[in-house]
Amino acid sequence: GLAIEIKRLRKRYGRFEALKGVELSVREGCVFGLLGPNGAGKSTLIKSLLTIVRPTECRGRLLGERIGHRRTLAKVGYLPEHARFPDYLTGRQIVEYSAGLAKVPGKLARQRTGELLETVGMSDWADRKNGTYSKGMRQRVGLAQALVNDPAIVFLDEPTDGVDPPGRVEIRKVIERMRDEGRTVFVNSHLLGEVEQIADEVAIMAAGRIVKSGTTDELTHRA
Ligand code: ADP
Ligand code: ADP
Repeated sequence: GLAIEIKRLRKRYGRFEALKGVELSVREGCVFGLLGPNGAGKSTLIKSLLTIVRPTECRGRLLGERIGHRRTLAKVGYLPEHARFPDYLTGRQIVEYSAGLAKVPGKLARQRTGELLETVGMSDWADRKNGTYSKGMRQRVGLAQALVNDPAIVFLDEPTDGVDPPGRVEIRKVIERMRDEGRTVFVNSHLLGEVEQIADEVAIMAAGRIVKSGTTDELTHRA
């Protein structure tokens, strides 16, 4: 089935129209890359689907429910662009705190935190402070944090931005693991090379519109 089915999505910030009638489908269980230059509207698209911003017009479904439905949001994970967690907390504390916010009961939260830190390859550094981590390690804690509620779909906004090449490899591995676990992964990126390596399906966005979409192979070999 489809994890996301957008029939028509528009978002205006004042007079400026950031999304100009987007139509988009995302298959369940795939890694979907939304590619486009800075300012294209990629973040606004995610924020609209999660109703972090209020869309001007939004017709469609997320996980089979009307977009904005509260029950759906409980099944969603999100790593915002430029996510920043406190430097004085350890990776473990950050993930445990997020589990608490997601209302995961204490004992289960501790267990799941351990598992998630393992999943993102941060077990060895879990009790060091965020302030001592590289950008890539911080992002991996962010990925663990996005999984605390065992989401069916995970939205990652520029997850490798500012991360060095070895860190990017680690993040790609985590994304693959998410897909292996049966989750749908929605990744925003302004880097073609990145999307090529991560995504099964791609849509290209420019100035608030989807200008192309298809499988990664179709889009990268045909052009
Ligand atoms: P991006 O990197 O996705 O373009 P930015 O880092 O530029 O986003 O934006 C940071 C924050 O400022 C976001 O919450 C975004 O919604 C907001 N923002 C971006 N552009 C504008 C703008 N022209 N006017 C007001 N807020 C903006
Ligand atoms: P992308 O994620 O592709 O970089 P964004 O969704 O962040 O694009 O931004 C799309 C456009 O909307 C940009 O021109 C940006 O400046 C503008 N924008 C984003 N957030 C706001 C905001 N809160 N207020 C006004 N304009 C915004």
